[in-house]
Amino acid sequence: MLTGKMPGFTKNQTETKMSDTIVIAGAGHAAGQAVVSLRQGGFSGRIVMIGDEPYLPYQRPPLSKKFLAGDLELERLHIRQERFYAEHDIDVRLATRVEEIDRPKQMVLLSDGDRLSYDRLLLAIGSHVRKLDTAGSELEGVHYLRTIDDVLGIRASFKLDAELIVIGAGYIGLEVAAVAVSRGLRVTVLEVADRVMNRVVAPEVSSFFERVHREAGVDIRCNRDPGGILVGDQHVRAVRSPDGAELPADLVVIGVGILPTVDIAVSAGLECDNGIVVDEFCRTGDAHILAIGDCTNHPNQLLGRRLRLESVHNAQEQAKTAAATLLGKLSPYAQIPWFWSDQYDLKLQIVGISTGYDRVVLRGDPSSRSFAAFYMRGDLLIAVDAINKAREFMLSKKLIASGARIDPEILADTEIPFKDLASAALS
Ligand code: FAD
Repeated sequence: MLTGKMPGFTKNQTETKMSDTIVIAGAGHAAGQAVVSLRQGGFSGRIVMIGDEPYLPYQRPPLSKKFLAGDLELERLHIRQERFYAEHDIDVRLATRVEEIDRPKQMVLLSDGDRLSYDRLLLAIGSHVRKLDTAGSELEGVHYLRTIDDVLGIRASFKLDAELIVIGAGYIGLEVAAVAVSRGLRVTVLEVADRVMNRVVAPEVSSFFERVHREAGVDIRCNRDPGGILVGDQHVRAVRSPDGAELPADLVVIGVGILPTVDIAVSAGLECDNGIVVDEFCRTGDAHILAIGDCTNHPNQLLGRRLRLESVHNAQEQAKTAAATLLGKLSPYAQIPWFWSDQYDLKLQIVGISTGYDRVVLRGDPSSRSFAAFYMRGDLLIAVDAINKAREFMLSKKLIASGARIDPEILADTEIPFKDLASAALS
């Protein structure tokens, strides 16, 4: 099911009346954008936003970047300040969980015992970290990184010369490594695959980042079983690999992926399959319930497939789509995914989905710390990793969205300026 119109919908069923109550489960990035878009779109009814964290909606990307480094105040993470919610009459309930959805009664049950009726329910419950199933993972000094509180815990142990073991060389693990080594910790990264960021970037890009990290003093060890045992009494002391060798550790940060949060949707009988299944208007199979952000499995017409994304851009854009749906202005979600990662002085910007590429064309010289990798399927450009190449990133968004075809030989010719090449392909 690609566009997968949910059964039994009519326009009237998703259009919200101004006297209606919209309840939002979750108070993360997608929820934070949804309330803004609903009020900007003219919805004057009641909005209740319920989040289980004790914070107003905040941006997570700085958690493994500037906030971890201590270069950003907590208040600066918030998407909107407290007064915004008061001024726009949004009832925000923090440190409160939606425990259950009673679909027949159109009601949610909250962890504080309250029950709330809804006309429309918007699920913006995000994702959660995948836990490593290993002995010792409950020891003090072993951390995951998803929330403000996680970072406050990690930062408290950031001490000069402390031994940090990062398990998992995805974006978050590598961002943590970059910040930590810059703060004077001794950092080792253990990765089960044969190269870093192997799920998302080409080997050429992995090699570049491995080199940069090693030059900065990070000990990157690939082909290492991250399921090693964490050793210690109360506090972690070492990570033991399957061959019995022990690496000393004062602190362990685990970044081995995330999983969509679907618990309350599953219990309520909504269709879930690697995320809450929604259509291109963010509607679930229940005419009164929509879902947005990391928790969704959604269709993307531009890519011709369903997917689940873990990105701010997707959370924001789906929030806008859902708000439009609720306001009766159906507008299908169609966005080319993009993402970024900051490591040292490098801004990696990724646009498109590289799965299924048959050739990578590099432009620029990795030794100059500024280049781009173009992923091609035949002469179709499907994704780009731009490293300190903002222009290539911006133009590539347009190229991929328009289904541009470029001869890979011409693309590889760095004598031709990229903007000329892009304008020719777009014309
Ligand atoms: P979330 O932000 O996860 O919000 C969901 C909220 O709902 C959470 O607070 C959760 O606790 C709450 N919740 C769950 N269940 C319930 C319930 N039953 N009742 C009440 N509340 C509930 N993306 C990028 O594009 N670029 C980056 O550089 C980048 N860096 C990142 C770095 C880190 C460290 C992390 C953790 C994420 C990063 N991301 C990045 C991903 C991005 O932050 C997420 O894609 C985005 O936050 C998704 O928004 P969301 O609202 O769907 O989910």
